Amino acid sequence: MNYNKKSVEDIEVAGKKVLVRCDFNVPLKDGVITNDKRIVAALPTIKYLMEKGAKVILCSHLGRPKGEYKPEFSLAPVAARLSEYLGKEVKLAQDPEVVGENARAMAAALENGDVMLLENVRYRKEETKNEENFTKELASLAEVFVNDAFGTAHRAHCSTTGVASYLPAVCGYLIEKEISFMGGALANPKRPLVAILGGAKVSDKIGVITNLIDKCDTLIIGGGMAYTFMKSLDYSIGTSLLEADQVENAGKMMADAKAKGVKFLIPVDNKVGLEFDENTESQIVESCKIPDGWMGLDIGPKTQELFADALKGAGTVIWNGPMGVSEWDNFAAGTISVAKAVAESGAISIVGGGDSVAAVTKLGYSDRMSHISTGGGASLEFLEGKELPGIAALMDKE
Ligand code: AMP
Repeated sequence: MNYNKKSVEDIEVAGKKVLVRCDFNVPLKDGVITNDKRIVAALPTIKYLMEKGAKVILCSHLGRPKGEYKPEFSLAPVAARLSEYLGKEVKLAQDPEVVGENARAMAAALENGDVMLLENVRYRKEETKNEENFTKELASLAEVFVNDAFGTAHRAHCSTTGVASYLPAVCGYLIEKEISFMGGALANPKRPLVAILGGAKVSDKIGVITNLIDKCDTLIIGGGMAYTFMKSLDYSIGTSLLEADQVENAGKMMADAKAKGVKFLIPVDNKVGLEFDENTESQIVESCKIPDGWMGLDIGPKTQELFADALKGAGTVIWNGPMGVSEWDNFAAGTISVAKAVAESGAISIVGGGDSVAAVTKLGYSDRMSHISTGGGASLEFLEGKELPGIAALMDKE
């Protein structure tokens, strides 16, 4: 994957109509935005284009309207929030077909520095199939394409890759930052490179583990998926989460790491509970001694120390996934301790995945991380070493 892509600063935008694909897929409750961090994350690119005198046409998807106009998936609340942040009205082109009479008239009337927003691109069934007719309609509105939607960069849709074949295409600041941190960590990391992977399933992260074994100095596994690794070592894991069909694979990955000289750490102790319940009875036990009927729900104190030690002196840290059921206070200590250790490591730190990011944010450590990735699925595919179509379609730097 070539990470050397042209950005908004590498292309002339003054007086030009610029179509910008953003990720405005914000959570809504009764039509009200409950978290607008994705809107905030898009502002630097939009502001830059406004300052440079571009005529800005924003587009995004929101939820899953499944190719039909459904008013509850309208981007109207996003247009209102953008207007507040930009101090200038951002009009919404209210076309159920996204590129309709309103959008065309509004785009034609844009003055330099103006911003408008198209309706939810997923009102069109062609969008997710990357069909040419909708791609052409979108492209016909503009002269330049900017992709700043990292969260959908792993999808080849009309508004992410399609338009890039019709218009000169560059990335916005958000994608540029993702490429710079994650691409840098994979291609040319400051060493030692330590990766910490957690979460529920080995099967979700096999691609990431396999790719990182070739790149890391240390690989740390926590969370529910650690028990499948323990099982491959013949530990008794009680009723802990187990993917029986991945045990062999887990063993192979550990052997592969050993053969490549990669330090591979799994929990040495655990906080186990009797039931999968927030207030279940709990105790701390060593990994090889999980009693029958008990399940591992968090890493234990010795493991917290082991992992924190492994993070000391790291040059780069990649962290994705919680160390336990971190949504529950009783089983959040492991994830919290990793968040602290990453923050204190002084390393270039890249955090992804909903639960890890939530822990970092809750502890007020967001500013101490070098980069918090904005795309769940896209981040994982990036870490797997896959080419993301939404990035691959952009123009390379000479
Ligand atoms: P993921 O989406 O793969 O990052 O996984 C996150 C989920 O894994 C969270 O909902 C956690 O509650 C869950 N999880 C983490 N550790 C465990 C564990 N030991 N047992 C069961 N679920 C876990």
